[in-house]
Amino acid sequence: MPDRRPLVAGNWKMNGLRASNAELEALIAALKAGAPAACDVMIAPPFTLVMGFAAAADGSPVEIAGQDCSALAPGAHTGDVAATMLADAGASAVIVGHSERREDHRETDEGVNAKALAAYDAGLVAIICVGETEPERDRGETLEIVTGQLAGSVPDTATAANTVVAYEPVWAIGTGRTPTADDVAKVHAAMRAALVARFGDEAGNGIRLLYGGSVKPANAGELMGVADVDGALVGGASLKAADFDGIIDAYR
Ligand code: PEP
Repeated sequence: MPDRRPLVAGNWKMNGLRASNAELEALIAALKAGAPAACDVMIAPPFTLVMGFAAAADGSPVEIAGQDCSALAPGAHTGDVAATMLADAGASAVIVGHSERREDHRETDEGVNAKALAAYDAGLVAIICVGETEPERDRGETLEIVTGQLAGSVPDTATAANTVVAYEPVWAIGTGRTPTADDVAKVHAAMRAALVARFGDEAGNGIRLLYGGSVKPANAGELMGVADVDGALVGGASLKAADFDGIIDAYR
């Protein structure tokens, strides 16, 4: 069984100005001052802050990620940002297929798969998001939806080194509601089984599986303790260094 180092990643969404550098500095200071955390730590700020954050975090334990990238090579695509540009700005990873992008921009599994491939080509880790909506959950379709998104969104060339999968039930994002630990365990077990069946033991057992959706310092210990949960993708609670550090406490 590969040794999976947990990852706690913060998704700042469309939040943050240059002054928010102070929160990043506070997080770096908290990580240096506290007991060592047995996990990787990452912040995904909006595009405008990626380069500044990457410079500020250089030499610290905090890695910087993008929140999305184009599937296309640089060229005539107004408003888009290529994966190579994120890498050039100092990012080491990029989130793709977040449910807000699937909904706001009608992103499909096929499109997310293409973005993940662009990320690999740029040398970035792709953090690929999957998760069911509330109606799908109510209809008992969670495992079918999640494994279907996994099959479609994760490229055939995924490895433990280039891919992280985040299970984010859409109804749990920003709502303060979370699935039970048992429900998370069932979904993560199904994702793990699907990855092992498709990629074999090494990649299938090596790809990290994050849980995301209303993770807070108060529930992080329980959620991070679930089998096959290898860390968290955190939205709202990643904006304040003290809260985010309180989540990282789950690995101290
Ligand atoms: C997210 O959007 O990735 C997320 C997990 O948000 P929150 O933690 O605010 O629910």
